Amino acid sequence: MLEELGAHVREVRLPAHLEGLNGIVIPGGESSVMDKLLRIFNLYEPLRDALAAGLPVLGTCAGLIMLASELEDGIKGQESLGVLDVTVRRNAFGSQVDSYETDVAITGVSGPPLRVAFIRAPLVTRVGPEVEVIATLPGGEVVGVRQGTALGVAFHPEITGDDRLHRVFVETVRQAGFSVATLQTA
Ligand code: GLN
Repeated sequence: MLEELGAHVREVRLPAHLEGLNGIVIPGGESSVMDKLLRIFNLYEPLRDALAAGLPVLGTCAGLIMLASELEDGIKGQESLGVLDVTVRRNAFGSQVDSYETDVAITGVSGPPLRVAFIRAPLVTRVGPEVEVIATLPGGEVVGVRQGTALGVAFHPEITGDDRLHRVFVETVRQAGFSVATLQTA
């Protein structure tokens, strides 16, 4: 989806892959595994430093969990990157069978609500003073937040093929003009 919007895309698995990045997506998946892999491959600190320096980021589902400053229901020892001043509860909707698609209106995304998928999704249970809530469910549950150039959503926005949230992110990256400079990977 990002390539279709004109972005050059590469996978980030090692610290060297951060070099020159203008933005990063932390996708859905399993946050406890991502947390372990970040440490095993020495990516945790350089990624955290790049994000703290203002590297634009879109975190979706497990990616939102990774961006949080505080976790509820993490596995033992699970940490997160502390980019968004929020508390996020893992698996807040129940198990995989409780996954579903729905329409969500998102601040900054024009047009009709976006069709998105909640897949063993988290919820934002606390929002810090610098954080803007950009998406909620009908019951008021917070499922999308923004803090500066960091965007976090509890759902998968990429499954239904509607690229409007990705457009917002690409525009954020363009405007930020950020580039990860030489990293100390030793
Ligand atoms: N439940 C997963 C986790 O805790 C997130 C699921 C997802 O990203 N779709 O990381």
